[in-house]
Amino acid sequence: MIKTEGIVLRENKYKESSKILSVYTRKNGKVSVMARGANRPKSRLLANTQVFSYNEYQFRRGRNFYYINQADIIDSFYAIRENMERLVYGFFLLELVEKSVPMEEANEKIFFLLLKTLKTLAVKKKDFLKLILAFELKYISFLGYRPFIESCVICGRGQAREFRFSNFEGGIICDNCYTKDLRAKALDRKTYELLVRLMYMPLDRLEEIEASDVLLNKLQNIIESYILYNIDRRGFNSLDFFKINKFNLARTDIDKE
Ligand SMILES: [Zn+2]
Repeated sequence: MIKTEGIVLRENKYKESSKILSVYTRKNGKVSVMARGANRPKSRLLANTQVFSYNEYQFRRGRNFYYINQADIIDSFYAIRENMERLVYGFFLLELVEKSVPMEEANEKIFFLLLKTLKTLAVKKKDFLKLILAFELKYISFLGYRPFIESCVICGRGQAREFRFSNFEGGIICDNCYTKDLRAKALDRKTYELLVRLMYMPLDRLEEIEASDVLLNKLQNIIESYILYNIDRRGFNSLDFFKINKFNLARTDIDKE
């Protein structure tokens, strides 16, 4: 028997009336949960098996799945569903964690980062991308891929006319070392400073950071590509919605520069 808090990352219908869940738990990391009967309209597990919902669970461990003995809801994060931007970015947070954490490896830092980010997102009215970027940088660091941004990752030089960001080298490279990774992305002074500030700023103090949408999108392109490179994925389904809609303009501006 396992008693742990957990956040539902994904739900899939299974047969007529059941669900298979991916739950990120505090004590056991990401686990697969079989929720029998949870897809029935009157199921007592309805609220405890929806994406975003944060519960205190009692699981029984089976051969392939965990099974729910008891579930008590702590927060449904319903407010995330009330706003389209919150919802899309919320789905992205869940998708990122779901696609990149290893199965059954506990990491309390990641658990509390996800929880705090969902709580912040649930009351946010603007500046969503700033929160997402701060999450991404902390998350990827907790996962073991912290980018090296203090000085050139190859030669150690701290001052350079210009730095680039190299996925392959795992950090910034200076203008002497560009040839080591020709695919490294340009990182102008302002974007670099934003990167450093977002890396170290606690989530509840993000409003201290001023950044334009264009700057945030520039950095998002760099960090998203760095994450995908490290977790060996091609893209995130949840972000496609924004890419083909709202941010199309901002992204086209970036391409022109
Ligand atoms: Zn260098």
